[in-house]
Amino acid sequence: MTEEPLALYIHWPFCAAKCPYCDFNSHVRERVDRGRFARALITEMEQEAARAGRRRLSSIFLGGGTPSLMAPEDVAALIARARSLFDADPAIEITLEANPTSVERGRLAGFRDAGVNRVSLGVQALEDAALGFLGRQHGAGDAVAALEIARALFPRVSFDLIYARPGQTEAAWRAELRQALGLVADHLSLYQLTIEDGTRFATLHARGAFALPDPDEAARLYATTEEEAARHGLAAYEVSNYAVPGAESRHNLTYWRYGDYVGLGPGAHQRMLRPDGMEALRRHRGPEEWLARVERDGHGTAGREWLTPEERGREALLMGLRLADGVDPARIAARSGLPFDRLVDAGVLARALDEGYLAWAGGRLATTRDGRIRLDALLPALLA
Ligand code: SF4
Repeated sequence: MTEEPLALYIHWPFCAAKCPYCDFNSHVRERVDRGRFARALITEMEQEAARAGRRRLSSIFLGGGTPSLMAPEDVAALIARARSLFDADPAIEITLEANPTSVERGRLAGFRDAGVNRVSLGVQALEDAALGFLGRQHGAGDAVAALEIARALFPRVSFDLIYARPGQTEAAWRAELRQALGLVADHLSLYQLTIEDGTRFATLHARGAFALPDPDEAARLYATTEEEAARHGLAAYEVSNYAVPGAESRHNLTYWRYGDYVGLGPGAHQRMLRPDGMEALRRHRGPEEWLARVERDGHGTAGREWLTPEERGREALLMGLRLADGVDPARIAARSGLPFDRLVDAGVLARALDEGYLAWAGGRLATTRDGRIRLDALLPALLA
Protein backbone atom coordinates (compact mmCIF):
# COMPACT_ATOMS: atom_id res chain seq x y z
CA MET A 1 0.00 0.00 0.00
CA THR A 2 1.22 3.44 -0.88
CA GLU A 3 2.23 5.88 1.85
CA GLU A 4 0.77 8.77 -0.16
CA PRO A 5 -1.95 10.47 1.93
CA LEU A 6 -5.36 11.05 0.46
CA ALA A 7 -7.33 14.28 0.01
CA LEU A 8 -11.13 14.18 -0.09
CA TYR A 9 -13.16 16.70 -2.10
CA ILE A 10 -16.93 16.96 -1.62
CA HIS A 11 -18.91 19.06 -4.12
CA TRP A 12 -22.14 20.82 -3.15
CA PRO A 13 -23.52 21.99 -6.50
CA PHE A 14 -26.16 24.54 -5.46
CA CYS A 15 -26.01 28.33 -5.19
CA ALA A 16 -28.54 31.00 -4.26
CA ALA A 17 -27.91 32.73 -7.62
CA LYS A 18 -25.55 32.24 -10.57
CA CYS A 19 -22.73 34.79 -10.65
CA PRO A 20 -22.21 36.11 -14.19
CA TYR A 21 -18.47 35.25 -14.32
CA CYS A 22 -18.79 31.72 -12.94
CA ASP A 23 -18.30 28.57 -15.01
CA PHE A 24 -18.18 26.17 -12.06
CA ASN A 25 -20.62 23.29 -11.85
CA SER A 26 -23.14 25.29 -9.84
CA HIS A 27 -26.91 25.33 -10.16
CA VAL A 28 -29.82 27.34 -8.83
CA ARG A 29 -32.86 25.35 -7.72
CA GLU A 30 -36.04 26.53 -6.02
CA ARG A 31 -35.96 23.58 -3.67
CA VAL A 32 -33.16 21.16 -2.83
CA ASP A 33 -33.73 17.92 -0.95
CA ARG A 34 -30.62 18.55 1.12
CA GLY A 35 -30.84 15.42 3.21
CA ARG A 36 -31.12 13.22 0.14
CA PHE A 37 -28.08 14.81 -1.51
CA ALA A 38 -26.08 14.50 1.71
CA ARG A 39 -27.01 10.81 2.02
CA ALA A 40 -25.96 10.25 -1.59
CA LEU A 41 -22.58 11.90 -0.92
CA ILE A 42 -22.08 9.48 1.97
CA THR A 43 -23.05 6.52 -0.24
CA GLU A 44 -20.49 7.59 -2.84
CA MET A 45 -17.87 8.09 -0.11
CA GLU A 46 -18.47 4.56 1.18
CA GLN A 47 -18.07 3.17 -2.32
CA GLU A 48 -14.77 5.00 -2.87
CA ALA A 49 -13.47 4.04 0.58
CA ALA A 50 -14.11 0.37 -0.26
CA ARG A 51 -12.03 0.81 -3.44
CA ALA A 52 -9.26 2.93 -1.91
CA GLY A 53 -8.68 0.91 1.24
CA ARG A 54 -8.00 2.39 4.64
CA ARG A 55 -5.80 5.28 3.57
CA ARG A 56 -4.46 8.14 5.64
CA LEU A 57 -6.66 11.22 5.09
CA SER A 58 -4.83 14.55 5.12
CA SER A 59 -7.66 16.90 4.13
CA ILE A 60 -11.35 17.27 3.43
CA PHE A 61 -12.57 20.17 1.28
CA LEU A 62 -16.26 21.02 0.99
CA GLY A 63 -16.48 23.12 -2.16
CA GLY A 64 -19.06 24.14 -4.68
CA GLY A 65 -21.37 25.65 -5.56
CA THR A 66 -22.05 27.01 -2.11
CA PRO A 67 -21.52 24.40 0.62
CA SER A 68 -22.38 26.99 3.29
CA LEU A 69 -25.99 26.47 2.11
CA MET A 70 -25.78 22.93 3.52
CA ALA A 71 -27.26 22.12 6.90
CA PRO A 72 -24.50 21.93 9.55
CA GLU A 73 -25.82 18.51 10.63
CA ASP A 74 -25.28 17.19 7.09
CA VAL A 75 -21.72 18.56 7.11
CA ALA A 76 -21.20 16.89 10.50
CA ALA A 77 -22.46 13.56 9.14
CA LEU A 78 -20.13 13.76 6.12
CA ILE A 79 -17.08 14.58 8.24
CA ALA A 80 -17.88 11.88 10.79
CA ARG A 81 -18.29 9.25 8.06
CA ALA A 82 -15.00 10.29 6.43
CA ARG A 83 -13.25 9.99 9.79
CA SER A 84 -14.67 6.51 10.30
CA LEU A 85 -13.83 5.26 6.80
CA PHE A 86 -10.27 6.62 6.58
CA ASP A 87 -7.40 7.16 9.02
CA ALA A 88 -7.66 10.87 9.65
CA ASP A 89 -4.31 12.57 10.06
CA PRO A 90 -4.11 14.20 13.55
CA ALA A 91 -3.53 17.52 11.75
CA ILE A 92 -6.30 16.96 9.21
CA GLU A 93 -7.38 20.15 7.43
CA ILE A 94 -11.16 20.41 6.96
CA THR A 95 -12.14 23.39 4.82
CA LEU A 96 -15.59 24.66 3.93
CA GLU A 97 -16.22 27.35 1.33
CA ALA A 98 -18.72 29.93 2.53
CA ASN A 99 -20.36 33.05 1.17
CA PRO A 100 -20.63 36.08 3.45
CA THR A 101 -24.41 36.63 3.35
CA SER A 102 -26.15 37.01 6.68
CA VAL A 103 -27.86 33.61 6.44
CA GLU A 104 -24.58 31.82 5.87
CA ARG A 105 -22.75 33.85 8.54
CA GLY A 106 -25.32 32.52 11.00
CA ARG A 107 -24.35 28.95 10.19
CA LEU A 108 -20.59 29.30 10.71
CA ALA A 109 -20.69 28.25 14.38
CA GLY A 110 -22.62 25.14 13.35
CA PHE A 111 -19.95 24.28 10.78
CA ARG A 112 -17.24 24.73 13.41
CA ASP A 113 -19.15 22.34 15.71
CA ALA A 114 -19.44 19.92 12.76
CA GLY A 115 -15.63 19.64 12.66
CA VAL A 116 -14.68 22.25 10.04
CA ASN A 117 -11.36 23.85 11.05
CA ARG A 118 -10.72 26.14 8.10
CA VAL A 119 -13.11 28.40 6.26
CA SER A 120 -12.65 29.94 2.82
CA LEU A 121 -14.86 32.98 2.29
CA GLY A 122 -15.97 34.12 -1.15
CA VAL A 123 -15.47 37.83 -0.43
CA GLN A 124 -14.50 38.71 -4.07
CA ALA A 125 -14.40 42.51 -3.53
CA LEU A 126 -14.57 45.09 -0.77
CA GLU A 127 -16.50 47.68 -2.79
CA ASP A 128 -20.28 47.55 -3.07
CA ALA A 129 -20.27 48.68 -6.72
CA ALA A 130 -17.82 45.94 -7.67
CA LEU A 131 -19.85 43.34 -5.79
CA GLY A 132 -22.92 44.48 -7.70
CA PHE A 133 -21.08 44.17 -11.02
CA LEU A 134 -19.93 40.65 -10.04
CA GLY A 135 -23.55 39.72 -9.27
CA ARG A 136 -22.81 38.81 -5.67
CA GLN A 137 -25.53 38.46 -3.04
CA HIS A 138 -23.56 40.29 -0.33
CA GLY A 139 -22.20 43.78 0.27
CA ALA A 140 -18.79 44.90 1.53
CA GLY A 141 -20.17 45.25 5.08
CA ASP A 142 -21.39 41.63 4.99
CA ALA A 143 -17.93 40.51 3.92
CA VAL A 144 -16.19 42.31 6.77
CA ALA A 145 -18.75 40.97 9.28
CA ALA A 146 -18.31 37.41 7.97
CA LEU A 147 -14.53 37.69 8.28
CA GLU A 148 -14.77 38.88 11.87
CA ILE A 149 -17.04 35.97 12.79
CA ALA A 150 -14.85 33.49 10.92
CA ARG A 151 -11.69 34.72 12.66
CA ALA A 152 -13.35 34.29 16.05
CA LEU A 153 -14.54 30.76 15.26
CA PHE A 154 -11.84 29.09 13.13
CA PRO A 155 -8.10 28.69 13.61
CA ARG A 156 -7.56 29.19 9.88
CA VAL A 157 -9.33 31.61 7.56
CA SER A 158 -8.85 32.28 3.85
CA PHE A 159 -10.73 34.53 1.50
CA ASP A 160 -10.95 35.13 -2.22
CA LEU A 161 -10.80 38.40 -4.11
CA ILE A 162 -11.24 39.04 -7.83
CA TYR A 163 -9.11 41.80 -9.32
CA ALA A 164 -8.27 43.19 -12.78
CA ARG A 165 -11.91 44.24 -12.94
CA PRO A 166 -13.08 46.68 -15.64
CA GLY A 167 -11.72 50.15 -14.97
CA GLN A 168 -9.85 49.11 -11.83
CA THR A 169 -6.72 51.22 -11.46
CA GLU A 170 -3.52 50.06 -9.85
CA ALA A 171 -4.01 52.58 -7.03
CA ALA A 172 -7.59 51.43 -6.38
CA TRP A 173 -6.54 47.77 -6.30
CA ARG A 174 -3.62 48.54 -3.98
CA ALA A 175 -5.97 50.33 -1.56
CA GLU A 176 -8.55 47.54 -1.65
CA LEU A 177 -5.89 44.87 -1.17
CA ARG A 178 -4.36 46.77 1.75
CA GLN A 179 -7.77 46.90 3.36
CA ALA A 180 -8.20 43.15 2.76
CA LEU A 181 -4.77 42.33 4.18
CA GLY A 182 -5.60 44.43 7.22
CA LEU A 183 -8.58 42.14 7.88
CA VAL A 184 -6.09 39.41 8.75
CA ALA A 185 -6.46 35.98 7.29
CA ASP A 186 -3.59 33.50 7.04
CA HIS A 187 -4.35 32.78 3.41
CA LEU A 188 -5.66 34.69 0.40
CA SER A 189 -6.69 33.55 -3.07
CA LEU A 190 -6.40 36.47 -5.49
CA TYR A 191 -7.75 35.81 -8.97
CA GLN A 192 -7.74 38.01 -12.03
CA LEU A 193 -11.17 38.33 -13.62
CA THR A 194 -11.26 36.17 -16.73
CA ILE A 195 -14.04 35.64 -19.23
CA GLU A 196 -15.13 32.01 -19.34
CA ASP A 197 -17.12 30.51 -22.21
CA GLY A 198 -20.81 30.04 -21.61
CA THR A 199 -21.09 32.63 -18.84
CA ARG A 200 -23.24 35.77 -18.87
CA PHE A 201 -20.04 37.84 -18.81
CA ALA A 202 -18.92 36.09 -22.02
CA THR A 203 -22.07 37.38 -23.76
CA LEU A 204 -21.76 40.88 -22.31
CA HIS A 205 -18.04 41.08 -23.06
CA ALA A 206 -18.58 39.95 -26.65
CA ARG A 207 -21.19 42.74 -27.01
CA GLY A 208 -18.63 45.26 -25.78
CA ALA A 209 -20.50 45.97 -22.54
CA PHE A 210 -17.18 46.16 -20.67
CA ALA A 211 -13.47 45.68 -21.27
CA LEU A 212 -10.82 43.98 -19.16
CA PRO A 213 -7.38 45.46 -18.48
CA ASP A 214 -4.88 44.75 -21.27
CA PRO A 215 -2.07 42.20 -20.60
CA ASP A 216 0.44 44.89 -19.56
CA GLU A 217 -2.00 46.40 -17.06
CA ALA A 218 -2.89 42.92 -15.80
CA ALA A 219 0.83 42.15 -15.30
CA ARG A 220 1.24 45.40 -13.35
CA LEU A 221 -1.74 44.50 -11.17
CA TYR A 222 -0.21 41.05 -10.57
CA ALA A 223 3.07 42.64 -9.49
CA THR A 224 1.18 44.99 -7.15
CA THR A 225 -0.62 42.00 -5.68
CA GLU A 226 2.62 40.13 -4.91
CA GLU A 227 4.25 43.26 -3.50
CA GLU A 228 1.38 44.09 -1.12
CA ALA A 229 0.91 40.49 0.02
CA ALA A 230 4.65 40.19 0.75
CA ARG A 231 4.55 43.44 2.79
CA HIS A 232 1.97 41.75 5.00
CA GLY A 233 3.99 38.52 5.32
CA LEU A 234 2.00 36.46 2.81
CA ALA A 235 4.14 34.73 0.19
CA ALA A 236 2.90 33.80 -3.28
CA TYR A 237 3.26 30.04 -2.93
CA GLU A 238 1.14 29.42 -6.04
CA VAL A 239 0.17 31.62 -9.00
CA SER A 240 -3.02 32.89 -7.33
CA ASN A 241 -2.53 31.84 -3.70
CA TYR A 242 -0.78 33.65 -0.86
CA ALA A 243 -0.14 32.41 2.66
CA VAL A 244 1.83 33.10 5.78
CA PRO A 245 4.45 30.31 6.07
CA GLY A 246 2.79 27.08 7.21
CA ALA A 247 -0.75 28.24 6.33
CA GLU A 248 -0.72 26.97 2.73
CA SER A 249 -3.84 25.00 1.78
CA ARG A 250 -2.89 21.36 2.37
CA HIS A 251 -5.81 20.24 0.26
CA ASN A 252 -4.88 22.30 -2.78
CA LEU A 253 -1.21 21.34 -2.38
CA THR A 254 -2.33 17.75 -2.99
CA TYR A 255 -3.64 18.81 -6.43
CA TRP A 256 -0.59 20.88 -7.28
CA ARG A 257 1.79 18.10 -6.17
CA TYR A 258 -0.23 15.60 -8.17
CA GLY A 259 -1.17 13.57 -5.14
CA ASP A 260 -4.09 11.18 -4.76
CA TYR A 261 -7.55 12.61 -4.23
CA VAL A 262 -11.10 11.34 -4.11
CA GLY A 263 -13.81 13.56 -5.61
CA LEU A 264 -17.43 13.12 -4.57
CA GLY A 265 -20.57 14.80 -5.86
CA PRO A 266 -21.78 16.18 -9.20
CA GLY A 267 -18.97 16.91 -11.67
CA ALA A 268 -16.19 15.99 -9.23
CA HIS A 269 -12.90 14.61 -10.55
CA GLN A 270 -10.61 12.07 -8.93
CA ARG A 271 -7.00 10.90 -9.40
CA MET A 272 -5.62 7.80 -7.76
CA LEU A 273 -2.36 5.97 -8.40
CA ARG A 274 -3.30 2.29 -8.28
CA PRO A 275 -1.13 -0.80 -8.91
CA ASP A 276 -2.27 -0.75 -12.57
CA GLY A 277 -1.54 2.94 -13.13
CA MET A 278 -3.14 6.35 -12.64
CA GLU A 279 -6.92 6.19 -12.61
CA ALA A 280 -8.81 9.33 -13.65
CA LEU A 281 -12.48 9.43 -12.79
CA ARG A 282 -15.23 12.00 -13.22
CA ARG A 283 -18.79 12.16 -11.90
CA HIS A 284 -21.98 13.11 -13.74
CA ARG A 285 -22.30 16.89 -13.77
CA GLY A 286 -26.08 17.31 -13.51
CA PRO A 287 -27.10 17.19 -9.84
CA GLU A 288 -30.33 15.26 -10.46
CA GLU A 289 -28.67 12.76 -12.80
CA TRP A 290 -25.81 12.25 -10.34
CA LEU A 291 -28.31 11.72 -7.50
CA ALA A 292 -30.35 9.18 -9.47
CA ARG A 293 -27.18 7.24 -10.39
CA VAL A 294 -25.90 7.15 -6.82
CA GLU A 295 -29.28 5.97 -5.54
CA ARG A 296 -29.37 3.27 -8.23
CA ASP A 297 -25.69 2.19 -8.52
CA GLY A 298 -24.00 3.42 -5.34
CA HIS A 299 -21.91 5.99 -7.26
CA GLY A 300 -22.35 8.74 -9.84
CA THR A 301 -19.29 7.92 -11.95
CA ALA A 302 -19.65 9.14 -15.54
CA GLY A 303 -16.25 8.02 -16.85
CA ARG A 304 -13.15 6.20 -15.71
CA GLU A 305 -9.88 5.88 -17.61
CA TRP A 306 -6.23 4.97 -17.16
CA LEU A 307 -3.94 7.87 -18.01
CA THR A 308 -0.89 7.21 -20.17
CA PRO A 309 2.53 8.04 -18.67
CA GLU A 310 2.70 11.08 -21.00
CA GLU A 311 -0.69 12.34 -19.80
CA ARG A 312 0.32 11.82 -16.19
CA GLY A 313 3.60 13.67 -16.66
CA ARG A 314 1.85 16.51 -18.42
CA GLU A 315 -0.75 16.89 -15.67
CA ALA A 316 1.92 16.70 -12.95
CA LEU A 317 3.99 19.44 -14.62
CA LEU A 318 1.01 21.68 -15.44
CA MET A 319 0.01 21.59 -11.78
CA GLY A 320 3.46 21.58 -10.17
CA LEU A 321 4.92 24.51 -12.09
CA ARG A 322 2.17 26.70 -10.66
CA LEU A 323 3.90 26.38 -7.28
CA ALA A 324 6.64 28.82 -6.29
CA ASP A 325 8.82 25.92 -5.15
CA GLY A 326 8.17 24.11 -8.42
CA VAL A 327 8.61 20.40 -9.05
CA ASP A 328 10.93 17.62 -7.95
CA PRO A 329 11.90 15.67 -11.11
CA ALA A 330 12.15 12.40 -9.13
CA ARG A 331 8.56 12.78 -7.91
CA ILE A 332 7.31 13.68 -11.39
CA ALA A 333 9.00 10.51 -12.70
CA ALA A 334 7.51 8.40 -9.90
CA ARG A 335 3.98 9.74 -10.42
CA SER A 336 4.11 9.57 -14.23
CA GLY A 337 6.25 6.48 -14.86
CA LEU A 338 8.48 8.40 -17.30
CA PRO A 339 11.87 10.02 -16.75
CA PHE A 340 11.62 13.79 -16.39
CA ASP A 341 13.69 14.54 -19.51
CA ARG A 342 11.18 12.62 -21.66
CA LEU A 343 8.42 15.00 -20.55
CA VAL A 344 9.91 18.38 -21.40
CA ASP A 345 11.27 19.90 -24.60
CA ALA A 346 15.01 20.20 -23.91
CA GLY A 347 15.41 23.22 -26.24
CA VAL A 348 12.52 25.16 -24.68
CA LEU A 349 13.76 24.28 -21.19
CA ALA A 350 17.28 25.55 -21.97
CA ARG A 351 15.89 28.79 -23.44
CA ALA A 352 13.49 29.37 -20.54
CA LEU A 353 16.35 28.86 -18.06
CA ASP A 354 18.57 31.17 -20.07
CA GLU A 355 15.92 33.90 -20.34
CA GLY A 356 15.08 33.72 -16.65
CA TYR A 357 11.58 32.23 -16.80
CA LEU A 358 12.60 28.99 -15.10
CA ALA A 359 15.31 28.23 -12.55
CA TRP A 360 16.75 25.23 -10.74
CA ALA A 361 17.02 25.50 -6.95
CA GLY A 362 17.83 22.67 -4.55
CA GLY A 363 17.21 20.08 -7.26
CA ARG A 364 13.75 21.47 -8.05
CA LEU A 365 12.64 23.23 -11.23
CA ALA A 366 10.49 26.29 -10.64
CA THR A 367 9.13 29.27 -12.51
CA THR A 368 10.59 32.65 -11.66
CA ARG A 369 8.29 35.63 -11.07
CA ASP A 370 8.57 36.51 -14.79
CA GLY A 371 7.83 32.91 -15.66
CA ARG A 372 4.70 32.82 -13.51
CA ILE A 373 3.31 35.90 -15.25
CA ARG A 374 3.81 34.10 -18.61
CA LEU A 375 2.78 30.65 -17.40
CA ASP A 376 -0.02 30.21 -19.94
CA ALA A 377 2.41 30.64 -22.84
CA LEU A 378 5.37 28.90 -21.20
CA LEU A 379 3.78 25.60 -20.20
CA PRO A 380 2.42 24.46 -23.57
CA ALA A 381 5.81 25.20 -25.17
CA LEU A 382 7.74 23.38 -22.46
CA LEU A 383 5.69 20.21 -22.42
CA ALA A 384 7.07 18.14 -25.24
S1 SF4 B 1 -21.46 31.59 -5.52
FE1 SF4 B 1 -19.50 30.76 -6.30
S2 SF4 B 1 -20.00 28.79 -7.29
FE2 SF4 B 1 -21.95 29.93 -6.96
S3 SF4 B 1 -22.31 30.94 -8.92
FE3 SF4 B 1 -21.22 32.41 -7.58
S4 SF4 B 1 -19.02 32.10 -8.04
FE4 SF4 B 1 -20.14 30.33 -8.87
